[in-house]
Amino acid sequence: TWGQVRGELLKSVGENNFSAWIDPIVFDRLDARTARFHVPTNFFGSWVSQNYGDVILRHLISAGVGVDRVEFTVDSGASRQAGNRNVAPPAQPVEAASLRPVSNLRTGTEELPGATLNPLYTFDNFIVGKPNELAHAAARRVAEGRDVTFNPLFLYGGVGLGKTHLMHAIAWDLRARFPGARILYLSAEQFMYRFVRALREQDTMTFKQIFRSVDVLMVDDVQFIAGKTSTQEEFFHTFNALVEEGKQIIISGDRAPVDMEELDARIASRLQCGLVVDLHPTDYELRLGVLQHKAEQAMARNPQIRMAEGVLEFMALRISTNIRVVEGALIRLFAFADLVRREITIDLVQDCLADILKSTDRRVTLDQIIKTCCEYYKIRQNDITGTSRARAVARPRQMAMYLSKSLTSRSYPEIARKLGGRDHTTVLYGVRKIEELMAVDSQIAEDAEILRRMLEA
Ligand code: ADP
Ligand code: MG
Repeated sequence: TWGQVRGELLKSVGENNFSAWIDPIVFDRLDARTARFHVPTNFFGSWVSQNYGDVILRHLISAGVGVDRVEFTVDSGASRQAGNRNVAPPAQPVEAASLRPVSNLRTGTEELPGATLNPLYTFDNFIVGKPNELAHAAARRVAEGRDVTFNPLFLYGGVGLGKTHLMHAIAWDLRARFPGARILYLSAEQFMYRFVRALREQDTMTFKQIFRSVDVLMVDDVQFIAGKTSTQEEFFHTFNALVEEGKQIIISGDRAPVDMEELDARIASRLQCGLVVDLHPTDYELRLGVLQHKAEQAMARNPQIRMAEGVLEFMALRISTNIRVVEGALIRLFAFADLVRREITIDLVQDCLADILKSTDRRVTLDQIIKTCCEYYKIRQNDITGTSRARAVARPRQMAMYLSKSLTSRSYPEIARKLGGRDHTTVLYGVRKIEELMAVDSQIAEDAEILRRMLEA
């Protein structure tokens, strides 16, 4: 088993980290739901425990090992070459007796035909902000498994906003609380695939038995089966059977049930009976939070990498609302910085992520900037796009120039045309003016910050 888990760990932490931190540890034994490992030194042990303890634990659980914690003890005999030794598999997982669920979660150990859970998609790794706080709170509540008040729980939102992450986090939590519970997580696509196969093999009985015997059913991306008549029909029956037995169901989709045109009306109305919560597009704070969290982890793994101040803020400001894109950008950035052995600066970000920055900066348009500035300063559109030099309109115009330059990739002449400048030098001057003022005048700095947020929202 440890051999398999090592294989999975290699995939999830990458080759470098694996050979540095996982390979040298030696599996010792499993006792009282604690997996014990030998490590070469004290420092090594605390590092592995802090940085990889969670991942190792989750992979062990994922492999079906009955374990609640991992422990690392120093054994000078444990060293690099020992890592390659094939270690005897741990004893059969022990059934946890102490954690009897209050609800009707049963114990059972047969393989369920679900998808594997990502060890990194945990609540610990989920950053909470305004856009996702409701979804997060609902997920936490359901993960407690105490009652089935929110049934079904329906999470919806655009791509890359954390639906799958939250579902896996719920599954991990439930697994830890109710070790024997039959928790089935899969995508709607997998559901369909299995159903179609059962039809083909004329074995829908087994299919029904499996799906109707679970304690918790999680179906990700339900929009996939909208419009697929027979799959929807089967899904509807499964769904009803489970709800009637008071089993928890958690479903995600890219839209609200009522907006899924081809979704069976009966399914939509059943979904409405539970708790429907959406994940909103991210805001600046949430993106920054995610970036800080991920950057911290990445820096811990690559201590030689240096990052200049303001880089994460710049990325949070300039990269789109999809967290997957934000994450991907950071991973690429670290790989690049490692390769060229340079400090990560805003310049480096602009070099390395030019394509991403370009594809997402069209979110804010010059017209939006003009409109927002007019509302904020309570002036008319004609004033800001005109040429009056009166302070009351000139300063807002300069602010609009500054925002245009920092939030879009429009050129100075383009901005000049929109904002009543004579030519690019007017804009250049306006931008510099605001930058200078921001350093000395906290009111101006605050205006810029608020406007930026209004535009980002
Ligand atoms: P969705 O299923 O909504 O398309 P995912 O759950 O796959 O989105 O999330 C995309 C990526 O962003 C994943 O790697 C996930 O870990 C990460 N992610 C999303 N939301 C958060 C969050 N609030 N905190 C940390 N990481 C997040
Ligand atoms: Mg998803």
